[in-house]
This record gives sequence, structure tokens and C-alpha cells, in this order.
Amino acid sequence: MEMNRDFYNQLAGQSVANETLPRSTALDILTSEEIELLPLLNAAFEVRKKYRGKEVSIHIINNAQNGFCPENCRYCAQAKTSDSDIEEYPLKSDEEILAEAKNAYEKGAFRYCMVFAGRGPSATRVAHIARLIREIKAKYPPLQVCVSSGLLDEGKANILKEAGLDRLNHNLNTSERNYPNICTTHTYADRLNTLAAARRADIQLCSGMIAGMGETPQDILEVVYALRELQVESIPVNFYIPIEGNALGPAVNLSPEYCLRILCLFRFLNPKSELRVAAGRELHLRSMQVMALYPANSLFLDGYLNTKGDDRRRTLQMIKDAGFTINSDHSVEELLGKEGSTLEASPDGAAGHVPMKKLQDLRIFMPSPMS
Ligand code: SF4
Repeated sequence: MEMNRDFYNQLAGQSVANETLPRSTALDILTSEEIELLPLLNAAFEVRKKYRGKEVSIHIINNAQNGFCPENCRYCAQAKTSDSDIEEYPLKSDEEILAEAKNAYEKGAFRYCMVFAGRGPSATRVAHIARLIREIKAKYPPLQVCVSSGLLDEGKANILKEAGLDRLNHNLNTSERNYPNICTTHTYADRLNTLAAARRADIQLCSGMIAGMGETPQDILEVVYALRELQVESIPVNFYIPIEGNALGPAVNLSPEYCLRILCLFRFLNPKSELRVAAGRELHLRSMQVMALYPANSLFLDGYLNTKGDDRRRTLQMIKDAGFTINSDHSVEELLGKEGSTLEASPDGAAGHVPMKKLQDLRIFMPSPMS
């Protein structure tokens, strides 16, 4: 029997009031056929509108180095155990990273994310990241800066905070139960400790999950409730991208509808958080992508760490067509005006092919060897 309108109204009302939904309801949102997708999305949209209006925050991610990671996260193309054919390079120069920050700002990014692969940064690396943060904040004050640099203790977190870091990204990725199935070189507890250290240093937290890594709906609940408890400010929900050569293999348990249900669940339990439909939206949501903007208020532009995303113009047009605006110094119309009219093919996964970034996508400001 289908749920009546009262059920969805109550769901939205409880979420807006920041009440914790019972686990049985949370599980039903993911699994029950009695809960229909469209009214569910509409209820999530009510919550999103209350706290986030119709704005979309665009994030652009910068892989400051690629590969060379000693950890064994089985979903990651940069892991030492991955046979993926990625464009490996050591740390980019400061000039290159700063040029990419400028580019992100000019493309309308609200937040610029620098990703440093590895278990965790050395003291020297922390000092270096701090210098970069200071320079970016001085040059582009409206641009929010986020860093993803692996495991951190409180001392290192304090150094980044003093440099002006707004947010630290450190995903829980999956439940504590499922964690040993995706990585054995560090633990779920290590991840929680890093988030706690960042919180003590008064850095905002960005932490989310990757769905499609063999987790059960109960595992998803564990992550949603853990992030609620941590009062995480920003939640990226990634859908696993099965890059050839990754130890984990193909994604499981994902359909466009299931992905949307996951996003709705994250919104109901984290009503005020920035919720990002992150990596894999093209591959797993396909023709339903735009629906993700009803629970989520943020997305990535220009693809992910090693894989291409949708053409920039297609993403901006999607935001505009659905009547959303962007949270930027630039309007979506202005940004669309700067783009050409040709569209790249969408990585929709129809043929099971994941388009990889080439070196020129990953290092658009790489100095020429002659200069
Ligand atoms: S997810 Fe991060 S820590 Fe894990 S292998 Fe990839 S780069 Fe290394």
C-alpha cells in the first residue's frame, strides 16, 4: 500500500525541525516500494529549500598530485594496489596550483578543493599546504578553500586552521562494518579520529560516503547517522566509479532510483548540511541527474580525481533549466555565455566505459618544458 501525503509532509516537517528520524523509517526510505520516489524527492526539496533555497554550490576539485599513494583503498585508482592506467605525477608546483585556484574562481566555483593523495601529510607537507592556503585566500578572498590530505592529528589541523583553511575533507566512505572490505591499511576509527582532530581545531568538516561498494542499506544508515552525530557541515555522496584496474571491481546495488533515495535520506537526516551529489552522478543517475538537485544543493564541475564528468556547459545548463541559481560571484547565464556551444559526449555509462582524464585535463596549467 502506498504512503499517503501525510507521511511525506511529516517526513519533511520532522527533518525541518531537525528531529532524528527512526531507523525503521530511514531504512524504508531506501528500500520500501510503498514509498514513492517523486513525493519523497518533493519532501526532501522542502527541506532543501528551507535551509539552502534554490542555490547550487559548484565545487571544483584539483588533484595536486596523482598516484603514489601507499594506502590500499580498493575503490581508488591512486592506491598502490590499483592497476588502473592513470596519469601519475608528483606534487604540482605552487604556480600551477595557484593558477588552478584562479581558474576555479573565474569558472564560478564557490569552493576550491585541493587533494593530496597519501596516508597523511608530513610536517613539511603541512607547512607547504598552509602556505598555499594563505596565498589563495589572499588572492581570491571569496573562494572557500577545502583540503583533502589524509589522516591528520590536532597539531597539524591547527596549523591548517591558522593558515585560513575553511574545511577539511575526510570521508567516512562506508560503515565501520564494511570498512575492512574496502581498505586494510587504515581503519574507520582512524578516519573518525581525523575528523575529531579537525573539529577540535575549529575547521568545518566535509565528510561523506561512496555508495556502490558492496554495502547494505544498513551500512548506509550507519554512515548517515554517524555524520548526523558529527554535525558535519558538508556531505559529499559519491557513487562508486569502477575504474578499470581498481581492486574493488564493478559497482553493486546502484540504480538511479536507489541513488536518489540515498540522497533524500542524507538530506532528511542532515537538513542544514551542504549535500553534494558528487562523483559518479553521470554514470549512475544518467537521465535522472537533474532530480538530484532536489535533495542536494551542491555538485562538482569538471569531473573528479581521475575521471571525466559531464561537459561543463551541460551541467550549467541543467542547473539553469531546472530553475536553480549558483552560489557564486558569477551568474549561471554569465558562465554559460563564456562556454562554447559544442558538447562533449556524456559519460553515461551506457557502454560500461569510464572516460579517464588525460594529463592535459589534470594539469591544465602545467608549465611547458621549454619555458
Ligand atoms: S583514497 Fe586516498 S588514502 Fe586511499 S588509496 Fe586513494 S589517495 Fe590513498
